[in-house]
Amino acid sequence: VKTVGILGGGQLARMMVLAGAPMGLRFELFDPAADACGGQVAPLQVAAFEDEAALAAFAERVDVVTFDFENVPARSAQFLADRVPVHPSPDALAVAQDRLSEKTLFAGLGIPLPPFADIRSRDELAARVGEFGLPCILKTRRFGYDGKGQFRLRSAADIDAAWAELGGQVERTGLILEGFVAFEREVSVVAVRGLDGEFRAWPVTGNWHVNGVLSASVAPARLSPAQYDAAIGYARTLAEKLDYVGVFALELFCRGEELLANEMAPRVHNSGHWTIEGSETSQFENHLRAVLGLPLGDTRMLGHACMLNWIGEMPDADAVLAQPGGHWHDYGKQPRDGRKVGHATLRGDDAAQLATEIEAVGTRLQRAEQVAPAVATLRR
Ligand code: ATP
Ligand code: MG
Ligand code: MG
Repeated sequence: VKTVGILGGGQLARMMVLAGAPMGLRFELFDPAADACGGQVAPLQVAAFEDEAALAAFAERVDVVTFDFENVPARSAQFLADRVPVHPSPDALAVAQDRLSEKTLFAGLGIPLPPFADIRSRDELAARVGEFGLPCILKTRRFGYDGKGQFRLRSAADIDAAWAELGGQVERTGLILEGFVAFEREVSVVAVRGLDGEFRAWPVTGNWHVNGVLSASVAPARLSPAQYDAAIGYARTLAEKLDYVGVFALELFCRGEELLANEMAPRVHNSGHWTIEGSETSQFENHLRAVLGLPLGDTRMLGHACMLNWIGEMPDADAVLAQPGGHWHDYGKQPRDGRKVGHATLRGDDAAQLATEIEAVGTRLQRAEQVAPAVATLRR
């Protein structure tokens, strides 16, 4: 019996545990928070990621270590890797943790992306804003998630406000300025690479964010065949360069026929949650197969799938469960503003029929706005 250790015990760890149970896997989770929701389904060690005694004991109990959270200190990942296999590698994790190194890598691989620059001072910010033009976005290089640690600059007058808000982070997190992409669509490639280098990608997913937080996803995304192939090609190039093992996501902006990379997530990803019911093999199962060196499962899907994120608090499940392709996920987390507490997946063979079902859910839950982009995409 193999035991998989997961650093971070949130909903992603929880879904990995649920995916691994049929395969007879055991799990040990490690998280600084005693109420991490993964603790509902597997033993949870509560300790700081920097606690080397706790990490050493954790390494003793597991056969392989992986992540539900990418901001584990690189030092701690390396400490574990000296004792037990860690996938993805601490090096791959380190690149993906830092927007500057990640974007430098994209550029070096010929993956198109908006202009970006490391920012060390207010004067440098002003100079780069002049160079890139407005609007643009100042982001922390590290530790950002769900759109946190970002400031959108719309006019030159925003330079001081942006610096007042994020300038204090320049030592701790670093800062990066990016050109703003007036995209028509956002998509992500969720893909997996095995220990032996085998690469598979799920159908490209279309995503909608509200206030920087993922709100809804639809797969497959509507892209031209050329864009579709390019997106998957970028993901493969990236995975091969990083000698990546496990599931990861590459987020891209679509503007006309252009595809521009935004960021990568070195882990299973919210935009791949639909794969649980919508694909032959879910991202969670394939991630486990990859880190354990098992054969990868097929990533094909049948029909169409839509995922709706529940943020802040859980709505009533009945509207989703009443639909033939409706599935409900409640992470068992305390409700809190802006917090991801669950999601629903709706699946259907027929896009128009699925759109009608999603619309019914939106109406019943008074979330017409949340479902509207998914409905429109499925009806196109
Ligand atoms: P995640 O939760 O996906 O890790 P994050 O906090 O790392 O999010 P980003 O993915 O960089 O943040 O940004 C969140 C969202 O903000 C993007 O999905 C996109 O909608 C918008 N955004 C970010 N950067 C840009 C940009 N350069 N141009 C236009 N929109 C952007
Ligand atoms: Mg991110
Ligand atoms: Mg993102």
